[in-house]
Amino acid sequence: MYCKQCGKEIPNDSEYCNFCGAGQNFKSKYQFSYKERWLALSLTIL
Ligand SMILES: [Zn+2]
Repeated sequence: MYCKQCGKEIPNDSEYCNFCGAGQNFKSKYQFSYKERWLALSLTIL
């Protein structure tokens, strides 16, 4: 796969780019779960 930050080729299972140190899967996963959690919380309140 290729780094989302700098575009260099890195191993497929890398969490971080070997070249620039950018996280690869962590960021989007975190944003998705955060949004889901927020929606679930607001539904619980209502
Ligand atoms: Zn990179």
